[in-house]
Amino acid sequence: MAKQSNTHPSLDNKPQINHTNPLSRTLLEKLDYDQLTNCMRCGFCLPACPTFRETGVEPESPRGRIALMKAVVDGMMEPDDMFRDQMNHCLGCRACEPVCPADVKYGQLIEQARDAIEDHPNHSLSVKGMRKLFFKGVFPHRNRLKVLGGAMKFYQKSGLRRVARGTGMMKLFPRHLQQMESILPDATSNGVVEQLGTVYPATGTPIARVALFRGCIMDVMFADTNCNTVKLLSEAGFEVVIPPEQVCCGALHAHSGEMEQARDLARINVRVFKELNVDYIVSNAGGCGALLIEYDHLLQQDVAWKEQASWFASRVVDISRLLLEHGRLPAFAESSESNSEPVIVTYQDSCHLRNVMHSGAAPRELIRQVTNVTFEEMKEADRCCGSAGIYNVTQPEMAGQILEHKMENVNATGARYLLTSNPGCLLQMKLGVEKHGDSKSMEVQHVVDFLYERLAKTKDN
Ligand code: SF4
Ligand code: SF4
Repeated sequence: MAKQSNTHPSLDNKPQINHTNPLSRTLLEKLDYDQLTNCMRCGFCLPACPTFRETGVEPESPRGRIALMKAVVDGMMEPDDMFRDQMNHCLGCRACEPVCPADVKYGQLIEQARDAIEDHPNHSLSVKGMRKLFFKGVFPHRNRLKVLGGAMKFYQKSGLRRVARGTGMMKLFPRHLQQMESILPDATSNGVVEQLGTVYPATGTPIARVALFRGCIMDVMFADTNCNTVKLLSEAGFEVVIPPEQVCCGALHAHSGEMEQARDLARINVRVFKELNVDYIVSNAGGCGALLIEYDHLLQQDVAWKEQASWFASRVVDISRLLLEHGRLPAFAESSESNSEPVIVTYQDSCHLRNVMHSGAAPRELIRQVTNVTFEEMKEADRCCGSAGIYNVTQPEMAGQILEHKMENVNATGARYLLTSNPGCLLQMKLGVEKHGDSKSMEVQHVVDFLYERLAKTKDN
């Protein structure tokens, strides 16, 4: 597909500068200058920003990053390595948006900045190769993801993993990748469609017909969670369709400056789901849902797709919110014995579910509805865990620092279960419990799996 320029309505307000630096020129072209000037430098966003709180340094804050973008566009500075680093250090958690009195769309600015930077990349050959392999070669292709899932399953089950660990082969990889490998769940090439088919009936009279967005990595590493999502929706009265032609949402691409690839994927998903004419499009991953709900913005300059993208975005909802607001909620119980001690459960926000989908209350409310459970709100549960898509792989130092502080708050809850609503957060929290917690007494789960297991317990008794 032909590459489009990311034009926007504020073109006339831009400074008339003939930049000699190619990246400055692209930033001038792609950044929304109105949004840059909307920032009134109040600093309300600083305490909400994890990277500012870790470092206390202005350029590591939303206000600082906006000031850097504006300085480049205004011709006050060149986009040097420090500029690129600061754009990459941002987690993209968007905790700065809900607290901003000027309603600055920071998430859009950082995506535009990264998109511009990726037009002038300075990656090493290996990083360039990895980006091409995963962004173009793997994530968009379901068949290749299945092969990857099958290969990982073979590695995990055949004894190869034991050999790799036993011989010290894993030590050839950077430490943070070794740690990630140790907490990966069982992979599979059998996703939700292969296990449950493309249509799953509602239990009782159907309330609505919904479509499941299954995700890319989600359906390889967390296929059971996808299946439990479908079964929970069915129990709550929804007929579920799962279109097999759907592709990756494009969130990892959009957050990494690959906007055109994100748009290409969005167009495929919009076409596939539009044909189904469903009432809702359900996501069980905050990171995916947040981009899906913004497909209207992503395709706003594309006249041919704008309207259909708005149709799509208006139907996207997180499973917790749909269950709570429109479902026939079944009973959930931790234990049927009346004298059993309540189990303490805490919840780590998915930043995108909270800050973009504005649905952070729903999972908490669902957890509170489980009998024999005490919900313990964690201090700073709304603060990013450091996962942030592939941030924990690309920025392991900062991600590790953020995780360590997060775990102090997790451990203070004394919870038996630590729940979350996004696969990346789930893995990061598992890593946190392994490194800084007690993995024997604390279990990390997706809120869907936790609820589905408590539903099964209710039925068994
Ligand atoms: S809160 Fe908003 S207006 Fe204030 S400094 Fe931060 S981004 Fe700018
Ligand atoms: S998106 Fe998150 S890390 Fe980035 S500036 Fe905003 S609050 Fe800070």
